[in-house]
Amino acid sequence: MDSRRRVPRTDAVLADPRLAAAADRLGRGIVKAAVTGAQERARSGEIAAERVADAAVAALPATAASLRPVVNATGVLLHTNLGRAPLSAAAREAVSAAAGCTDVEFDLATGRRDRRGRGTLAALAEACPAAEAVHVVNNNAAALVLAATVLAQGREIVISRGEMVEIGDGFRLPALLASTGARLREVGTTNRTTAADYADAIGPETGFVLKVHPSNFRIEGFTAEAAVRDLTGLGVPVVADIGSGLLAPEPVLPGEPDAATVLAEGADLVTASGDKLLGGPQAGLLLGRSELVERLRRHPLARALRVDKLTLAALEASLRGPEPPTAQALHAGLASLRERAVLLAKELTGYDAVVVDSVARVGGGGAPGVELPSVAVGLPETCAVPLRRAGIVGRVESGRLLLDLRGIPADLGVTVLAARIRESLQCM
Ligand SMILES: *Cc1c(COP(=O)(O)O)cnc(C)c1O
Repeated sequence: MDSRRRVPRTDAVLADPRLAAAADRLGRGIVKAAVTGAQERARSGEIAAERVADAAVAALPATAASLRPVVNATGVLLHTNLGRAPLSAAAREAVSAAAGCTDVEFDLATGRRDRRGRGTLAALAEACPAAEAVHVVNNNAAALVLAATVLAQGREIVISRGEMVEIGDGFRLPALLASTGARLREVGTTNRTTAADYADAIGPETGFVLKVHPSNFRIEGFTAEAAVRDLTGLGVPVVADIGSGLLAPEPVLPGEPDAATVLAEGADLVTASGDKLLGGPQAGLLLGRSELVERLRRHPLARALRVDKLTLAALEASLRGPEPPTAQALHAGLASLRERAVLLAKELTGYDAVVVDSVARVGGGGAPGVELPSVAVGLPETCAVPLRRAGIVGRVESGRLLLDLRGIPADLGVTVLAARIRESLQCM
């Protein structure tokens, strides 16, 4: 008999108790799509008609959103394509707790309206006492747009030619700043810019001087750069985009700027990302002089850039809670990485697994060129595609798939990870 005839009807498959329960949890549309896919596979002869319900159950997504969790085994700690910093368990819990109705702008004691995100702002201020005032927006790009709009619309932003950077995916900071109606006044050259270059360019048209940390490239050789402290006496605000969001010096990354140091050097305003080395959610941090932060906060554009309650919850828990996974990854000792790698390789006996030395990197989020010693489990290159399809993303190097341990959160147990790897390699 024609196999197509025997493919069960959608209603009949949806009556399967497992799929009926899934429809309550995920919504009928998602379950129906899984059933349709399974029916097609049966029609094409790929699976038996009796297996349609089982195949639909197997194809169900874990949640009602299409974003799938991924294990970042690339050795690039902050991978923009993989969602940058993973949140800590504390931050995830805080997000979940704030997801319903919450007192984000309400004082439960008095019954009155209260300042939005006050707990998060207090946590940020406490984490960086060098800042007189703080504010949080959607991301660092938004922080820069707000600063440029409020402080330099129709006026000039003085910036070094060596700091006209592209952040990624074709987005360029100069274009972003110019979109606010500010004009860029470029000074110096690609490799050398001095304090005198800035001083010469400053005049009645100047809105502010902008220092941008080259967070994803390095200029080496015959170079010169003016430090923030050399630019503070020029009579205009100095805004420093430090990129990575470190609030205090990070001993592992001595070349990476941090908000406390840059403010102590005299910067009037610092902008940074929340989801890079800070290890929190996507957010733009603004730290600096009260008068400037207050002007930014009060501008109409601030409302369009404000953050969601979920972001506020995740950021506060990342600041107050236990060390986030990104900092843990940065600080993990080589011995503990090796221990986990040896265990993982042992769990993968029979898959040609070997333990190899590796080099991890911070990634586009900061510290370009810095090599972090690491340990990886090497597997045959043919494992790369099936593992990637299962959400385990490593990197291929010299004909081998490497799963770098430094970026894999320590709370993902080696046994659980090994089981997932074996499962995804089953049908190879
Ligand atoms: C990453 C980065 C940005 C962009 O930050 P987002 O939070 O992604 O908007 C801007 N400037 C620098 C120096 C950066 O490193």
